[in-house]
Amino acid sequence: MSDDTLIEVKNLEVRFPITNKKLFRTETVELRAVDDVSFDVKRGETVGLVGESGSGKTTIGRAVLRAIDPTGGQVIYHGTRNDQAIFKGKKGPDFDSSPVQVHTLTGETLRQFRPRMSLVFQDPYSSLNPRMTVRDIIAEPLVASGLMNSRDEVDARVRDVAARCKLNLEHLRRFPHAFSGGQRQRICIARALVSSPDFVVCDESVSALDVSIQAEIVNLLKDLQEETGVAFLFIAHDLSVVAQMSHRVAVLYVGKFVEYAKTEDLFFNPRHPYTHALLSAIPQSDPDLEFDPIRLEGEIPNPLSAPTGCRFHTRCPFAKEECAKREPEWREVAPEHFVACHFAEEFDFSRPKR
Ligand code: SF4
Repeated sequence: MSDDTLIEVKNLEVRFPITNKKLFRTETVELRAVDDVSFDVKRGETVGLVGESGSGKTTIGRAVLRAIDPTGGQVIYHGTRNDQAIFKGKKGPDFDSSPVQVHTLTGETLRQFRPRMSLVFQDPYSSLNPRMTVRDIIAEPLVASGLMNSRDEVDARVRDVAARCKLNLEHLRRFPHAFSGGQRQRICIARALVSSPDFVVCDESVSALDVSIQAEIVNLLKDLQEETGVAFLFIAHDLSVVAQMSHRVAVLYVGKFVEYAKTEDLFFNPRHPYTHALLSAIPQSDPDLEFDPIRLEGEIPNPLSAPTGCRFHTRCPFAKEECAKREPEWREVAPEHFVACHFAEEFDFSRPKR
């Protein structure tokens, strides 16, 4: 852990009990949605989380925010409120000194802590209450957390954040149905940032938008990060979008990390066959560059019956006998480049830099 670490996630585990009703009995099995995941996020950094649907990306984001309770591991917050001028004396007495063991917080203490971390949802259409004005939607976290009670203070803060998110003042009086998808997502971002959090989880926040609007939202998030120093956990299934946004990227497969590195390292020198396959599927804008996507056989396994040994062995084009028997160790194969594959050193998946 370095001095500028903001969020530390250690051996995070999320399991859900699943009840199957059989003819004469009921059976409960355990779904391992997230299994032994560790990473950190530095102040002002974006960490990308990428993987296929059902790999556990959203569950990790929600467990870190305590929107769901982790069943194991630790989430530790090392921040301090970064904008004390806005919330004079409203820091919450228990959080003046860090670290905060977020996974242990409950009740009122958890409620007081919530403004430090926030979430931008995937769907800008269903995540806004159609009966509330934009002003009230953006103000909601301030009022709910008790950070601000005076209407004038709240209005001033809402106007400031709305302007940063490129919303006009007249937008604040309208209802969500009057806006396009990109504008709605800017409202969602303003709501997430109004309490001046240190850390925001963006859960597939651009996936439902057109490509041109995606670029606009990614640029807005980067500008806001530069202005406020907020850190993002950016969850997406599209590696090219994650690359534009992230300083480091983690690749997830059936609830486990398979690779984690600085964005440039991961893109130009991937070490894991799954990352290599994902990268090969990104369309090239230059027609002179080779585009030969690797087709992985079969479906992503069900986490209820994850394969033994390396979870990727049922689809890996390079699998050997050992892969089904022994789980690969999570290890650092180059500075700040972690991978879980027995044979990572034997592969050369490097790609030309343009
Ligand atoms: Fe493929 Fe084996 Fe490496 Fe898993 S450990 S990624 S199956 S080569």
